[in-house]
Amino acid sequence: MSHRTLPVATLGFPRIGRHRELKFALEGYWSGKIAESDLLETAARLRAENWALQRDRGITKIPSNDFSLYDHVLDTAVMVGAIPAVYGWKGGAVPLSVYFAMARGSEGDSNAGCGHAHHGHGVPALEMTKWFDTNYHYMVPEVSEDQAFTLTSQKPVDHFLEARALGIHTRPVVLGPVTFLKLAKARPSTFKPLDLLEKLLPVYEELLGRLAAAGADWVQVDEPILALDLTEGERHALAVAYDRLAKAVPSLKILLATYFGALGDNLAAAAALPVAGLHVDLARAPEQLDAVAGAVRADRVLSLGAIDGRNIWRADLADILDRLAPVVKARGADAVEIAASCSLLHVPIDLELETALDADLATWLAFAIQKLGELSTLGRGLAEGRDAVREAVDAASAAIAARAASPKVTDPRVQARIAGIDAGMKSRKSGFEARRRLQEGAIRLPLFPTTTIGSFPQTSEVRKARSAHAKGALSHGDYEAFLEKETESAIRWQEEIGLDVLVHGEFERNDMVQYFGEQLAGFAFTQHAWVQSYGSRYVRPPIIFGDVSRPKPMTVRWWQYAQSLTERPVKGMLTGPVTILNWSFVRDDIPRSAACRQIALAIRDEVADLEKAGAKMIQIDEAALREGLPLRHRDWQHYLDWAVESFRLCSTGVADETQIHTHMCYSEFNDIISAIAAMDADVISIETSRSKMELLDAFRNFSYPNEIGPGVYDIHSPRVPEIGEMTDLLTLARKRLQDRQLWVNPDCGLKTRKWEEVRPALVNMVEAARRLRAPAAAQ
Ligand code: GLN
Ligand code: ZN
Repeated sequence: MSHRTLPVATLGFPRIGRHRELKFALEGYWSGKIAESDLLETAARLRAENWALQRDRGITKIPSNDFSLYDHVLDTAVMVGAIPAVYGWKGGAVPLSVYFAMARGSEGDSNAGCGHAHHGHGVPALEMTKWFDTNYHYMVPEVSEDQAFTLTSQKPVDHFLEARALGIHTRPVVLGPVTFLKLAKARPSTFKPLDLLEKLLPVYEELLGRLAAAGADWVQVDEPILALDLTEGERHALAVAYDRLAKAVPSLKILLATYFGALGDNLAAAAALPVAGLHVDLARAPEQLDAVAGAVRADRVLSLGAIDGRNIWRADLADILDRLAPVVKARGADAVEIAASCSLLHVPIDLELETALDADLATWLAFAIQKLGELSTLGRGLAEGRDAVREAVDAASAAIAARAASPKVTDPRVQARIAGIDAGMKSRKSGFEARRRLQEGAIRLPLFPTTTIGSFPQTSEVRKARSAHAKGALSHGDYEAFLEKETESAIRWQEEIGLDVLVHGEFERNDMVQYFGEQLAGFAFTQHAWVQSYGSRYVRPPIIFGDVSRPKPMTVRWWQYAQSLTERPVKGMLTGPVTILNWSFVRDDIPRSAACRQIALAIRDEVADLEKAGAKMIQIDEAALREGLPLRHRDWQHYLDWAVESFRLCSTGVADETQIHTHMCYSEFNDIISAIAAMDADVISIETSRSKMELLDAFRNFSYPNEIGPGVYDIHSPRVPEIGEMTDLLTLARKRLQDRQLWVNPDCGLKTRKWEEVRPALVNMVEAARRLRAPAAAQ
């Protein structure tokens, strides 16, 4: 029996395969173990499975061309012929070797820890950066002023036909031309990529023509920049683009997809575009429903993105039905569509694989496949009435009620502590100057003290020991003994080369967030819930499901062990609350700021225990603070306020004598410098080596008062920096900051580097600091 349903859509489905098939095929192909045809076969099989799966679960608007071997932005760059000359493409079909060279750099090049090739020999990869405010990274297209665009690839058409041959009529997805250009980088930076729009549009027109000729009736064109602050020029570009594209192929209807936020002040511009349909994100921005429904013409399709494509919680179907029903009624079934808020790329594939999850928690979650079920329930419920889907809706309501009432979610002790937070807990006892004097008395350090950011190389022995321990093949005692040995040799070696402030090396940590999440209450970990981070690199973000607390010390044992081996100070090493939050799936039942505050209290406990154990210096990394910035500028201050508050909450419970360090691995501080200063860390280490210390201008112009370690060693490169290069960088730093403010350290942790690189680089770094201290003697 078939049911009536509204059109039900996903905007994209995870590409990686339930069992990470794509990763293994890619890595097999890259290492020469499997042939290109094997890789392509695996890819085709994954597409076929995804289409059939969506069809069988009741999706009626099934996407194609959402699949990518590496990244959909890279696919778009290749498709329009935006292939920089260095990759050696001479026209015609683009070989996989060129595609992967753009993604990963070519032979002879080294991969940095982030997997992104930099500065090696051979050809470097394109730059990589975050896709809006997600943890997915895309390859940044490069365009030149005289860029020629041509349609090099029929991938959207090919995949449409591939699905049709399987009996599935799809709606191809393409990245829109305006977002594409907005994300692209001008090389050289003498023009704006958007100036190339007129040249790019014919390629899109040709593509749409070919899709229509192949039998497509709709195409989904993604313009996520509509959730950003746009200039008049950018809005105008959208108008120009869609005037042309909508007319180009009258038989092909365009669904313009926006996501990751409200349309806000772009609503009128979006609604005025002459497209056949508009998709809006109602998970991130439920409040925009009425305004959008009022603005979008009655003869257009409004795609209601009600199921959250960014998070893993089971949806409140009853509530969504209540909210959407009036809109559906007013517009009529032909003018609406029910959809996920954005591509399901950002969530894991199948909850059914998680056999070890807490049984209650499992009933509160929905991964991509479960979300398909939710979507079809909504489609049917809105077409046939709620009674038709009563059972599914009631089950969702019951799960949500159980979650809200569960003692696993709410911890009265955490609530009481949160209620007891007062201003005194968010501020050091004394100002920086007074603290500095006390710290100088407590810890004797030379001018330009040398240190590192925390981790030392995670060698294959370290990784092997960890995985053997996880599998039970290495006993706990043997594993601990192994870690002690690694830590001890790291300490000995740091003493030997003369570093001033030592680290224990982080050999016991798998990942800077996971390591803490696994020890905190309120966090859950999955076995198979992989999400693509970039290319073949997938992550399993922890799930924060309940009030967070720290049952027992997490790092004190390793700090204590390391400190017992040396007279020199060893830094305690922690990950900060904002970073833990930003790299996890977060609760949707309390604000992010509230979850962050709880994590901050847990870290505060750890800071207190480290101090009690004798640590004089404690570093709290906030690698992800900047990337958590909201997409809209007017939301920045609110975010920065609670992010800074959380950092202060975790870090200010110590005595004035205890030195708090923080670390951030990026190089843009101009627009957030006052928030950085408000964190009031005694010392901040930052990434600066590649920017030639220019970013220190932000600190100088602001008269940043506390101490700073501007990175002098680019840890993304295997290259060993010369002493002179580092003294040059430090000389530049001295022009911008006072000598007494400066520390000497690498850009970031060294876990992705090899000891052969790290050893000489740090020896040189220590020597560079010595030369600075005694310039005359060293000349
Ligand atoms: N302490 C961490 C390390 O050294 C910091 C890493 C980071 O900020 N990304 O690995
Ligand atoms: Zn870093």
